[in-house]
Amino acid sequence: MRKTLILLVVLGTSVFSMNAQKSEKDIIKKLEQKSDEYGNIAQNIWEFAEMGYQEEQSSGLLQKTLKDSGFSIKTGVAGIPTAFIAEYGSGSPVIAIMGEYDALPGLSQKATAEKESAGAAAGHACGHHLFGTASTAAAISTKEWLEANKAKGTIRFYGTPAEEGGSGKVYMVREGLFNDVDIALHWHPGSQNAASAGAALANKSAKFRFHGISAHAAGSPEKGRSALDGVEAMNLMINMMREHIPQEARIHYVITAGGKAPNVVPDFAEVYYYARHNRRDVVIDIFDRMVKAAEGAALGTGTTMDYEMIGGTHELLPNLTLQKVMHDNLSEVGGIEYTAEEKEFADKIAVTLGQEKADLATAKNVHPYKTEARAYGSTDVGDVSFTVPTVGFGTATWVPGTPAHSWQAVAAGGTSIGRKGMMVAAKTLTKTAIDLFKDKKLVETAKAEFLEKRGADFKYIPLLGDRAPALDYRK
Ligand SMILES: [Zn+2]
Repeated sequence: MRKTLILLVVLGTSVFSMNAQKSEKDIIKKLEQKSDEYGNIAQNIWEFAEMGYQEEQSSGLLQKTLKDSGFSIKTGVAGIPTAFIAEYGSGSPVIAIMGEYDALPGLSQKATAEKESAGAAAGHACGHHLFGTASTAAAISTKEWLEANKAKGTIRFYGTPAEEGGSGKVYMVREGLFNDVDIALHWHPGSQNAASAGAALANKSAKFRFHGISAHAAGSPEKGRSALDGVEAMNLMINMMREHIPQEARIHYVITAGGKAPNVVPDFAEVYYYARHNRRDVVIDIFDRMVKAAEGAALGTGTTMDYEMIGGTHELLPNLTLQKVMHDNLSEVGGIEYTAEEKEFADKIAVTLGQEKADLATAKNVHPYKTEARAYGSTDVGDVSFTVPTVGFGTATWVPGTPAHSWQAVAAGGTSIGRKGMMVAAKTLTKTAIDLFKDKKLVETAKAEFLEKRGADFKYIPLLGDRAPALDYRK
Protein backbone atom coordinates (compact mmCIF):
# COMPACT_ATOMS: atom_id res chain seq x y z
CA MET A 1 0.00 0.00 0.00
CA ARG A 2 2.62 2.38 1.10
CA LYS A 3 4.88 1.45 -1.82
CA THR A 4 2.06 2.02 -4.29
CA LEU A 5 1.39 5.41 -2.83
CA ILE A 6 5.05 6.40 -3.11
CA LEU A 7 5.14 5.08 -6.64
CA LEU A 8 2.05 7.10 -7.51
CA VAL A 9 3.56 10.21 -5.99
CA VAL A 10 6.77 9.68 -7.90
CA LEU A 11 4.87 9.04 -11.12
CA GLY A 12 2.69 12.06 -10.49
CA THR A 13 5.71 14.30 -10.04
CA SER A 14 7.44 13.08 -13.15
CA VAL A 15 4.29 13.43 -15.26
CA PHE A 16 3.88 16.98 -13.94
CA SER A 17 7.48 17.86 -14.65
CA MET A 18 7.26 16.35 -18.13
CA ASN A 19 4.16 18.40 -18.89
CA ALA A 20 5.73 21.43 -17.32
CA GLN A 21 8.84 20.89 -19.41
CA LYS A 22 6.79 20.64 -22.56
CA SER A 23 4.69 23.58 -21.72
CA GLU A 24 7.74 25.70 -20.83
CA LYS A 25 9.03 25.05 -24.33
CA ASP A 26 5.66 26.00 -25.79
CA ILE A 27 5.54 29.16 -23.69
CA ILE A 28 8.98 30.24 -24.89
CA LYS A 29 7.99 29.45 -28.47
CA LYS A 30 4.86 31.54 -28.12
CA LEU A 31 6.92 34.36 -26.64
CA GLU A 32 9.28 34.16 -29.61
CA GLN A 33 6.29 34.42 -31.96
CA LYS A 34 5.27 37.65 -30.25
CA SER A 35 8.65 39.30 -30.94
CA ASP A 36 7.14 41.79 -33.40
CA GLU A 37 4.32 42.73 -31.05
CA TYR A 38 6.75 43.42 -28.19
CA GLY A 39 9.18 45.06 -30.61
CA ASN A 40 6.45 47.55 -31.52
CA ILE A 41 5.71 48.31 -27.88
CA ALA A 42 9.40 48.96 -27.19
CA GLN A 43 9.63 51.11 -30.31
CA ASN A 44 6.67 53.19 -29.13
CA ILE A 45 8.29 53.79 -25.74
CA TRP A 46 11.59 54.62 -27.47
CA GLU A 47 9.72 57.29 -29.43
CA PHE A 48 7.83 58.62 -26.39
CA ALA A 49 11.24 59.14 -24.70
CA GLU A 50 9.66 60.34 -21.46
CA MET A 51 11.85 61.41 -18.55
CA GLY A 52 11.58 60.28 -14.92
CA TYR A 53 8.11 60.65 -13.35
CA GLN A 54 6.75 61.97 -16.65
CA GLU A 55 6.34 58.51 -18.23
CA GLU A 56 2.54 58.74 -18.66
CA GLN A 57 2.37 57.22 -22.15
CA SER A 58 5.05 54.58 -21.53
CA SER A 59 3.53 53.45 -18.24
CA GLY A 60 0.05 53.54 -19.80
CA LEU A 61 1.08 51.34 -22.72
CA LEU A 62 2.64 48.69 -20.47
CA GLN A 63 -0.39 48.78 -18.17
CA LYS A 64 -2.70 48.25 -21.12
CA THR A 65 -0.59 45.36 -22.43
CA LEU A 66 -0.69 43.62 -19.05
CA LYS A 67 -4.38 44.34 -18.49
CA ASP A 68 -5.29 42.93 -21.91
CA SER A 69 -3.40 39.77 -20.92
CA GLY A 70 -5.48 39.24 -17.79
CA PHE A 71 -3.48 41.05 -15.11
CA SER A 72 -5.15 43.23 -12.49
CA ILE A 73 -3.57 46.67 -12.22
CA LYS A 74 -2.92 48.95 -9.25
CA THR A 75 -1.74 52.29 -10.54
CA GLY A 76 -0.34 55.45 -8.95
CA VAL A 77 1.25 53.42 -6.14
CA ALA A 78 3.59 55.01 -3.54
CA GLY A 79 2.30 58.46 -4.50
CA ILE A 80 3.84 58.22 -7.98
CA PRO A 81 1.37 58.65 -10.88
CA THR A 82 3.48 56.55 -13.31
CA ALA A 83 4.25 53.69 -10.88
CA PHE A 84 2.07 50.58 -10.96
CA ILE A 85 1.80 46.93 -10.01
CA ALA A 86 0.22 44.33 -12.29
CA GLU A 87 -0.69 40.99 -10.76
CA TYR A 88 -1.92 37.55 -11.77
CA GLY A 89 -2.56 34.43 -9.69
CA SER A 90 -2.83 33.91 -5.96
CA GLY A 91 -0.87 32.68 -2.99
CA SER A 92 2.82 31.99 -2.75
CA PRO A 93 5.39 32.15 -4.05
CA VAL A 94 5.11 35.77 -5.13
CA ILE A 95 7.57 36.41 -7.93
CA ALA A 96 8.16 40.01 -8.99
CA ILE A 97 9.63 41.22 -12.27
CA MET A 98 10.67 44.86 -12.35
CA GLY A 99 10.42 47.08 -15.42
CA GLU A 100 11.77 50.59 -16.02
CA TYR A 101 10.77 53.01 -18.78
CA ASP A 102 12.34 56.45 -18.21
CA ALA A 103 14.54 58.26 -20.74
CA LEU A 104 17.51 60.59 -20.22
CA PRO A 105 17.47 64.34 -20.83
CA GLY A 106 19.51 65.80 -23.68
CA LEU A 107 20.21 62.50 -25.40
CA SER A 108 17.74 62.58 -28.26
CA GLN A 109 19.05 60.53 -31.19
CA LYS A 110 17.72 58.93 -34.36
CA ALA A 111 18.14 55.20 -35.01
CA THR A 112 21.09 55.95 -37.29
CA ALA A 113 24.81 55.18 -37.17
CA GLU A 114 25.62 58.91 -37.25
CA LYS A 115 25.08 61.27 -34.33
CA GLU A 116 21.85 63.04 -35.19
CA SER A 117 19.23 64.35 -32.76
CA ALA A 118 15.63 63.24 -33.23
CA GLY A 119 14.66 66.67 -31.91
CA ALA A 120 13.16 65.43 -28.65
CA ALA A 121 14.01 66.58 -25.13
CA ALA A 122 15.26 63.14 -24.12
CA GLY A 123 16.40 59.78 -25.46
CA HIS A 124 16.52 56.16 -24.32
CA ALA A 125 20.27 56.11 -23.69
CA CYS A 126 19.94 53.45 -20.99
CA GLY A 127 17.58 51.22 -22.98
CA HIS A 128 14.75 51.39 -20.45
CA HIS A 129 12.19 51.11 -23.28
CA LEU A 130 13.55 47.57 -23.78
CA PHE A 131 13.78 46.98 -20.03
CA GLY A 132 10.10 47.69 -19.36
CA THR A 133 8.90 45.80 -22.42
CA ALA A 134 10.96 42.60 -21.90
CA SER A 135 9.87 42.45 -18.26
CA THR A 136 6.24 42.90 -19.32
CA ALA A 137 6.62 40.14 -21.92
CA ALA A 138 8.16 37.83 -19.30
CA ALA A 139 5.39 38.52 -16.78
CA ILE A 140 2.78 37.64 -19.42
CA SER A 141 4.59 34.45 -20.50
CA THR A 142 5.00 33.37 -16.88
CA LYS A 143 1.27 33.94 -16.37
CA GLU A 144 0.59 31.71 -19.37
CA TRP A 145 2.75 28.99 -17.82
CA LEU A 146 0.97 29.27 -14.45
CA GLU A 147 -2.36 29.04 -16.24
CA ALA A 148 -1.38 26.09 -18.43
CA ASN A 149 -0.12 24.14 -15.42
CA LYS A 150 -2.79 25.31 -12.95
CA ALA A 151 0.18 26.11 -10.73
CA LYS A 152 -0.11 27.97 -7.45
CA GLY A 153 1.54 31.33 -6.98
CA THR A 154 1.49 34.99 -7.95
CA ILE A 155 3.35 36.72 -10.74
CA ARG A 156 3.71 40.48 -10.44
CA PHE A 157 5.09 43.16 -12.73
CA TYR A 158 6.41 46.23 -10.92
CA GLY A 159 6.31 49.33 -13.11
CA THR A 160 9.14 51.33 -11.56
CA PRO A 161 9.54 54.91 -12.85
CA ALA A 162 12.42 57.36 -12.68
CA GLU A 163 15.38 55.05 -12.18
CA GLU A 164 17.71 57.69 -13.62
CA GLY A 165 18.32 59.86 -10.58
CA GLY A 166 14.73 59.77 -9.35
CA SER A 167 15.08 56.71 -7.06
CA GLY A 168 11.56 55.59 -8.01
CA LYS A 169 11.91 52.12 -6.50
CA VAL A 170 13.02 53.53 -3.15
CA TYR A 171 9.58 55.06 -2.56
CA MET A 172 7.96 51.77 -3.54
CA VAL A 173 10.19 49.87 -1.10
CA ARG A 174 9.58 52.50 1.62
CA GLU A 175 5.83 52.07 1.09
CA GLY A 176 6.22 48.33 1.79
CA LEU A 177 5.12 47.29 -1.70
CA PHE A 178 7.77 44.56 -1.89
CA ASN A 179 7.20 43.18 1.60
CA ASP A 180 5.24 40.08 0.57
CA VAL A 181 7.42 39.32 -2.46
CA ASP A 182 9.51 36.12 -2.33
CA ILE A 183 11.95 36.83 -5.17
CA ALA A 184 12.47 39.88 -7.40
CA LEU A 185 13.89 39.68 -10.93
CA HIS A 186 15.30 42.43 -13.12
CA TRP A 187 17.66 42.86 -16.05
CA HIS A 188 19.39 45.67 -17.87
CA PRO A 189 20.18 46.47 -21.50
CA GLY A 190 23.90 46.53 -22.25
CA SER A 191 26.61 45.63 -24.71
CA GLN A 192 27.13 42.01 -23.62
CA ASN A 193 25.18 39.01 -22.31
CA ALA A 194 26.11 38.37 -18.69
CA ALA A 195 24.45 37.10 -15.54
CA SER A 196 27.41 37.31 -13.20
CA ALA A 197 26.94 38.69 -9.70
CA GLY A 198 26.16 42.39 -9.94
CA ALA A 199 27.31 45.30 -7.83
CA ALA A 200 26.20 48.89 -7.47
CA LEU A 201 27.33 51.94 -5.53
CA ALA A 202 25.19 53.37 -2.78
CA ASN A 203 24.31 56.91 -3.66
CA LYS A 204 23.00 60.12 -2.10
CA SER A 205 22.15 63.15 -4.20
CA ALA A 206 20.87 66.61 -3.36
CA LYS A 207 20.39 70.08 -4.77
CA PHE A 208 22.08 72.76 -2.64
CA ARG A 209 20.45 76.17 -3.04
CA PHE A 210 22.15 79.42 -2.06
CA HIS A 211 20.26 82.67 -1.56
CA GLY A 212 22.03 86.05 -1.72
CA ILE A 213 21.21 89.71 -2.36
CA SER A 214 21.02 91.20 -5.85
CA ALA A 215 22.83 94.45 -6.56
CA HIS A 216 24.46 96.29 -9.49
CA ALA A 217 27.75 94.44 -9.80
CA ALA A 218 29.71 97.63 -10.61
CA GLY A 219 27.50 100.40 -9.12
CA SER A 220 26.87 98.97 -5.64
CA PRO A 221 28.67 95.66 -5.21
CA GLU A 222 29.00 96.22 -1.45
CA LYS A 223 25.21 95.95 -1.16
CA GLY A 224 25.15 92.55 -2.86
CA ARG A 225 25.87 89.06 -1.60
CA SER A 226 26.50 86.55 -4.38
CA ALA A 227 24.68 83.23 -4.22
CA LEU A 228 27.12 81.99 -6.87
CA ASP A 229 29.98 82.73 -4.44
CA GLY A 230 28.24 80.34 -2.05
CA VAL A 231 28.20 77.61 -4.70
CA GLU A 232 31.82 78.23 -5.68
CA ALA A 233 33.01 78.22 -2.06
CA MET A 234 31.18 74.95 -1.47
CA ASN A 235 32.67 73.40 -4.60
CA LEU A 236 36.17 74.48 -3.55
CA MET A 237 35.75 72.81 -0.18
CA ILE A 238 34.32 69.63 -1.67
CA ASN A 239 37.16 69.43 -4.17
CA MET A 240 39.65 69.68 -1.30
CA MET A 241 37.67 67.07 0.61
CA ARG A 242 38.26 64.56 -2.20
CA GLU A 243 41.74 63.95 -0.83
CA HIS A 244 40.36 62.89 2.52
CA ILE A 245 37.70 60.35 1.64
CA PRO A 246 38.05 56.63 0.82
CA GLN A 247 39.54 56.48 -2.64
CA GLU A 248 36.76 54.35 -4.15
CA ALA A 249 34.26 57.10 -3.39
CA ARG A 250 32.84 59.22 -6.19
CA ILE A 251 31.60 62.80 -5.96
CA HIS A 252 30.19 64.71 -8.93
CA TYR A 253 28.31 67.94 -9.38
CA VAL A 254 26.75 70.27 -11.92
CA ILE A 255 25.85 73.91 -11.36
CA THR A 256 22.18 74.03 -12.27
CA ALA A 257 21.74 77.77 -11.63
CA GLY A 258 24.53 80.32 -11.52
CA GLY A 259 22.99 83.71 -12.15
CA LYS A 260 21.79 85.36 -15.32
CA ALA A 261 24.08 88.28 -16.10
CA PRO A 262 27.57 89.29 -14.98
CA ASN A 263 26.43 92.80 -14.10
CA VAL A 264 23.84 91.54 -11.62
CA VAL A 265 25.00 89.97 -8.37
CA PRO A 266 23.11 86.63 -8.44
CA ASP A 267 20.63 86.29 -5.61
CA PHE A 268 20.11 82.59 -6.40
CA ALA A 269 22.42 79.75 -7.33
CA GLU A 270 22.07 75.99 -7.18
CA VAL A 271 24.47 73.06 -7.37
CA TYR A 272 23.36 69.42 -7.79
CA TYR A 273 25.63 66.85 -6.08
CA TYR A 274 26.06 63.06 -6.05
CA ALA A 275 28.10 61.10 -3.51
CA ARG A 276 28.73 57.40 -4.11
CA HIS A 277 30.58 54.48 -2.59
CA ASN A 278 30.00 50.74 -2.44
CA ARG A 279 29.05 51.03 1.24
CA ARG A 280 26.13 53.18 2.26
CA ASP A 281 27.64 54.12 5.65
CA VAL A 282 30.55 55.78 3.80
CA VAL A 283 28.10 57.63 1.54
CA ILE A 284 26.14 58.86 4.56
CA ASP A 285 29.36 60.15 6.16
CA ILE A 286 30.54 61.93 2.98
CA PHE A 287 27.13 63.48 2.48
CA ASP A 288 27.05 64.83 6.04
CA ARG A 289 30.44 66.45 5.42
CA MET A 290 29.09 67.93 2.19
CA VAL A 291 26.28 69.59 4.10
CA LYS A 292 28.86 71.06 6.52
CA ALA A 293 30.83 72.44 3.56
CA ALA A 294 27.64 74.02 2.20
CA GLU A 295 26.88 75.58 5.58
CA GLY A 296 30.44 76.90 5.83
CA ALA A 297 30.22 78.31 2.33
CA ALA A 298 27.01 80.15 3.16
CA LEU A 299 28.45 81.53 6.38
CA GLY A 300 31.59 82.82 4.67
CA THR A 301 29.81 84.42 1.73
CA GLY A 302 27.00 86.05 3.69
CA THR A 303 24.37 83.97 1.94
CA THR A 304 21.87 81.42 3.17
CA MET A 305 21.64 77.82 2.09
CA ASP A 306 19.04 75.09 2.05
CA TYR A 307 19.12 71.76 0.33
CA GLU A 308 16.69 69.21 -1.06
CA MET A 309 17.42 65.49 -1.04
CA ILE A 310 16.83 64.25 -4.55
CA GLY A 311 17.88 60.62 -4.56
CA GLY A 312 19.33 57.96 -2.32
CA THR A 313 19.93 54.29 -3.07
CA HIS A 314 21.46 51.32 -1.31
CA GLU A 315 24.32 49.33 -2.80
CA LEU A 316 23.35 46.00 -4.40
CA LEU A 317 23.06 42.83 -2.32
CA PRO A 318 23.82 39.96 -4.71
CA ASN A 319 22.20 36.55 -4.38
CA LEU A 320 24.47 33.85 -5.80
CA THR A 321 21.86 31.07 -5.52
CA LEU A 322 19.61 32.95 -7.91
CA GLN A 323 22.44 34.36 -9.98
CA LYS A 324 23.65 30.91 -11.00
CA VAL A 325 20.14 29.88 -12.09
CA MET A 326 19.83 33.07 -14.11
CA HIS A 327 23.23 32.45 -15.71
CA ASP A 328 22.26 28.89 -16.69
CA ASN A 329 19.02 30.13 -18.22
CA LEU A 330 20.73 32.95 -20.10
CA SER A 331 23.28 30.43 -21.41
CA GLU A 332 20.48 28.19 -22.64
CA VAL A 333 18.77 31.08 -24.41
CA GLY A 334 22.06 32.32 -25.85
CA GLY A 335 22.99 35.66 -27.42
CA ILE A 336 22.06 37.18 -30.75
CA GLU A 337 23.18 36.84 -34.37
CA TYR A 338 23.32 39.95 -36.53
CA THR A 339 21.87 40.08 -40.05
CA ALA A 340 24.04 41.59 -42.81
CA GLU A 341 22.18 44.86 -42.44
CA GLU A 342 22.62 44.92 -38.65
CA LYS A 343 26.30 44.08 -39.09
CA GLU A 344 26.75 47.05 -41.40
CA PHE A 345 25.07 49.33 -38.85
CA ALA A 346 27.17 47.84 -36.03
CA ASP A 347 30.45 48.34 -37.90
CA LYS A 348 29.62 52.00 -38.46
CA ILE A 349 28.78 52.47 -34.78
CA ALA A 350 31.98 50.62 -33.82
CA VAL A 351 34.07 53.16 -35.76
CA THR A 352 32.50 56.01 -33.76
CA LEU A 353 33.59 54.12 -30.63
CA GLY A 354 37.19 53.97 -31.83
CA GLN A 355 37.06 50.33 -32.91
CA GLU A 356 37.90 48.92 -36.31
CA LYS A 357 34.72 46.87 -36.49
CA ALA A 358 32.03 45.50 -34.24
CA ASP A 359 32.92 42.51 -32.07
CA LEU A 360 29.92 40.35 -32.92
CA ALA A 361 31.11 37.39 -30.83
CA THR A 362 30.36 39.44 -27.72
CA ALA A 363 26.73 39.81 -28.79
CA LYS A 364 26.48 36.12 -29.64
CA ASN A 365 28.16 34.59 -26.58
CA VAL A 366 27.28 34.63 -22.92
CA HIS A 367 29.99 35.96 -20.62
CA PRO A 368 31.54 33.30 -18.32
CA TYR A 369 29.96 33.29 -14.86
CA LYS A 370 31.74 35.31 -12.18
CA THR A 371 30.84 35.73 -8.53
CA GLU A 372 32.89 38.89 -7.95
CA ALA A 373 31.85 42.23 -9.35
CA ARG A 374 33.03 45.81 -9.22
CA ALA A 375 30.51 48.58 -8.98
CA TYR A 376 30.62 51.52 -11.36
CA GLY A 377 27.10 52.90 -11.19
CA SER A 378 24.13 53.08 -8.86
CA THR A 379 20.61 51.74 -9.13
CA ASP A 380 17.48 51.91 -7.05
CA VAL A 381 17.30 48.13 -7.46
CA GLY A 382 19.75 48.26 -4.52
CA ASP A 383 16.92 49.06 -2.10
CA VAL A 384 14.84 46.20 -3.48
CA SER A 385 17.81 43.85 -3.06
CA PHE A 386 17.92 44.66 0.67
CA THR A 387 14.19 43.94 1.01
CA VAL A 388 13.81 40.68 -0.92
CA PRO A 389 16.25 38.27 -2.66
CA THR A 390 16.92 39.93 -6.01
CA VAL A 391 18.64 38.78 -9.18
CA GLY A 392 19.51 40.54 -12.42
CA PHE A 393 21.50 40.24 -15.63
CA GLY A 394 22.30 42.07 -18.83
CA THR A 395 21.90 41.33 -22.53
CA ALA A 396 23.54 42.73 -25.65
CA THR A 397 21.01 45.27 -26.84
CA TRP A 398 23.71 47.68 -28.01
CA VAL A 399 26.66 47.26 -30.33
CA PRO A 400 29.44 45.67 -28.24
CA GLY A 401 31.62 48.33 -26.62
CA THR A 402 28.84 50.91 -26.43
CA PRO A 403 28.76 52.74 -23.09
CA ALA A 404 25.41 53.41 -21.41
CA HIS A 405 24.11 56.98 -21.61
CA SER A 406 25.58 57.53 -25.08
CA TRP A 407 23.96 58.45 -28.41
CA GLN A 408 25.17 55.10 -29.75
CA ALA A 409 23.05 53.35 -27.09
CA VAL A 410 19.96 55.33 -28.11
CA ALA A 411 20.62 54.55 -31.78
CA ALA A 412 21.02 50.76 -31.42
CA GLY A 413 18.10 50.63 -28.99
CA GLY A 414 15.89 51.99 -31.76
CA THR A 415 16.85 49.21 -34.19
CA SER A 416 16.25 45.46 -34.49
CA ILE A 417 19.55 44.92 -32.59
CA GLY A 418 17.98 46.34 -29.44
CA ARG A 419 14.75 44.43 -29.96
CA LYS A 420 16.60 41.11 -30.42
CA GLY A 421 18.59 41.62 -27.22
CA MET A 422 15.33 42.46 -25.50
CA MET A 423 13.82 39.10 -26.46
CA VAL A 424 16.87 37.30 -25.01
CA ALA A 425 16.04 39.05 -21.74
CA ALA A 426 12.32 38.25 -21.94
CA LYS A 427 13.03 34.54 -22.46
CA THR A 428 15.66 34.36 -19.70
CA LEU A 429 13.34 36.10 -17.21
CA THR A 430 10.48 33.77 -18.12
CA LYS A 431 12.60 30.63 -17.70
CA THR A 432 13.89 31.82 -14.34
CA ALA A 433 10.42 32.75 -13.07
CA ILE A 434 9.13 29.31 -14.11
CA ASP A 435 12.07 27.68 -12.28
CA LEU A 436 11.07 29.55 -9.14
CA PHE A 437 7.46 28.44 -9.38
CA LYS A 438 8.54 24.85 -10.00
CA ASP A 439 11.18 24.61 -7.30
CA LYS A 440 10.13 25.60 -3.79
CA LYS A 441 13.53 24.63 -2.45
CA LEU A 442 15.28 27.07 -4.75
CA VAL A 443 13.18 29.90 -3.31
CA GLU A 444 14.00 28.76 0.22
CA THR A 445 17.74 28.49 -0.45
CA ALA A 446 17.77 31.95 -2.00
CA LYS A 447 15.94 33.36 1.01
CA ALA A 448 18.35 31.73 3.46
CA GLU A 449 21.31 33.24 1.60
CA PHE A 450 19.58 36.63 1.56
CA LEU A 451 18.89 36.64 5.31
CA GLU A 452 22.41 35.57 6.13
CA LYS A 453 24.05 38.18 3.91
CA ARG A 454 21.78 41.00 5.04
CA GLY A 455 22.54 40.30 8.68
CA ALA A 456 20.30 39.70 11.67
CA ASP A 457 20.15 43.31 12.86
CA PHE A 458 19.44 44.90 9.49
CA LYS A 459 16.88 47.67 9.51
CA TYR A 460 15.82 49.37 6.29
CA ILE A 461 16.44 53.12 6.40
CA PRO A 462 15.92 54.87 3.06
CA LEU A 463 18.90 57.09 2.20
CA LEU A 464 16.63 59.79 0.85
CA GLY A 465 14.81 60.05 4.18
CA ASP A 466 11.10 60.77 4.41
CA ARG A 467 10.77 63.20 1.53
CA ALA A 468 7.83 62.79 -0.87
CA PRO A 469 8.69 61.46 -4.35
CA ALA A 470 10.66 64.14 -6.24
CA LEU A 471 8.05 64.19 -9.02
CA ASP A 472 9.38 67.41 -10.56
CA TYR A 473 13.14 66.63 -10.45
CA ARG A 474 13.33 66.72 -14.28
CA LYS A 475 11.37 69.96 -14.62
ZN1 LIG B 1 19.54 52.09 -16.71
